[in-house]
Amino acid sequence: MDYGDRATIAAPATVFGQGGIGIIRISGALALPLLERLFHPRRKNKKFSSHRLYLGNFGLSAEEPIDEVMAVFMRAPHTYTREDVVEIHCHGGAVVGRRILEALVEQGARLAHPGEFTLRAFLNGRIDLSQAEGVMQLINAQSVLGQRLAMRHLQGALSERCSALRETLCDVLSVVEAWIDFPEEDLDPSSENRIRSHLQESLGQVKQLLESFESGRVLREGVAVLILGRPNVGKSSLLNALLGSERAIVTDLPGTTRDTLEEQIDLQGLRARFIDSAGLRDSSDPVEQEGVRRSRDKIAEADLVLFMVDGNQGLTDEDFGALGLCDFHKVLLVVNKSDLGLCDLDSDLQSLPRVHLSAKTGQGLDDLRSRIREFFLDASEDSCGEGLFVTEERHYDCLVRCSESLHRALGAHDDGLSLEFVALDIRQGLDHLGEITGETAPEEILQRIFERFCIGK
Ligand code: GDP
Ligand code: ZN
Repeated sequence: MDYGDRATIAAPATVFGQGGIGIIRISGALALPLLERLFHPRRKNKKFSSHRLYLGNFGLSAEEPIDEVMAVFMRAPHTYTREDVVEIHCHGGAVVGRRILEALVEQGARLAHPGEFTLRAFLNGRIDLSQAEGVMQLINAQSVLGQRLAMRHLQGALSERCSALRETLCDVLSVVEAWIDFPEEDLDPSSENRIRSHLQESLGQVKQLLESFESGRVLREGVAVLILGRPNVGKSSLLNALLGSERAIVTDLPGTTRDTLEEQIDLQGLRARFIDSAGLRDSSDPVEQEGVRRSRDKIAEADLVLFMVDGNQGLTDEDFGALGLCDFHKVLLVVNKSDLGLCDLDSDLQSLPRVHLSAKTGQGLDDLRSRIREFFLDASEDSCGEGLFVTEERHYDCLVRCSESLHRALGAHDDGLSLEFVALDIRQGLDHLGEITGETAPEEILQRIFERFCIGK
């Protein structure tokens, strides 16, 4: 991609296929001239007002138009790219859109690269880099929560947090640099403290953002929930109850469901992939090494394990065997068949969080749903305030490097090294922060980010 290129670009902004309408977007200095040349408005002799829709025909000649379209001209700078933008709303289908694009290219536009509209929005200062990434996250969002997170990034929540951090660090840097410039005056204790406390405060904030990364990933990509339990405790019944349909095969015979079954379920925006571990039924048999290995793998892959027992029968050795494979931090004990009455469960299990339910009657299901949501959302929602999550690997890397720099700065300061070193490390920390918003991002990084966009965005 050429970052200095000011050509007028055009691309389909929607997928041209079976849809009723397709939109073609044009951005650049030629946008209006192209519209005037190719669009033949129903009402003649009208000048295009900005941000208004006009009905007319589109084509090189008014006599043989390609399509009847609605067109809108949007005058810079109040546009997505901050350049003049035109949108042509034509009919869907494969041919119309292609022919309109061909006409535009013939008259001087060039086809846009993937992400080029958003790249221009970034280069022209309408959005910063983390907001541009928010645009892409929004397009790729797989759940309502993912969409909400992306929207926060798009609205600049992460950018704001970064600039607040930068301000604090610039403040410290100015104190440090003042002392470098006037070394004859001794560093007084209050300034010493200010450097230290500001650095620590900044480090704390960076750490918070880093911690939000794991929860952010979970929210964006969804979670894997493994239903683990010996045969006949009601795993398939639970999956069916959650789905509200009869997908998994339920029988009275232990081990009827052979392979692991997976189902996507939306828990009020949290996208969860439920895995019925029926295929792992031999896992608790210590002789069955392969089964144990497979169970361990499944458990390791899961973000949460619903460890299911038959509350009416109580716990068996087989239950304990399987439980022994689990990491208790991600286990929620599900005591099923509450409709049959529950026996006292072993006191060893007291510490495990648990839900009582009946997969058969549905009693307790809502409780289970909200407990699963809490497991993933509660801790995280507050960890960063205002529900701000770092969701991009790239942002995470920048923050890790920023945190390392700040640690070094603090260390250099504590070890009484020359303040030059402290200043150097703080400046590096600032650079790493700037990479998130794009102030200090090198061109290769920009390239890599915008390449991942789709055409027309
Ligand atoms: P799985 O082998 O763990 O998948 O267990 P299934 O879901 O196939 O259920 C085994 C048997 O237990 C079936 O006959 C179900 O109807 C029955 N069952 C499952 N959940 C409940 C429940 O909550 N209450 C009662 N009474 N029976 C249940
Ligand atoms: Zn089953």
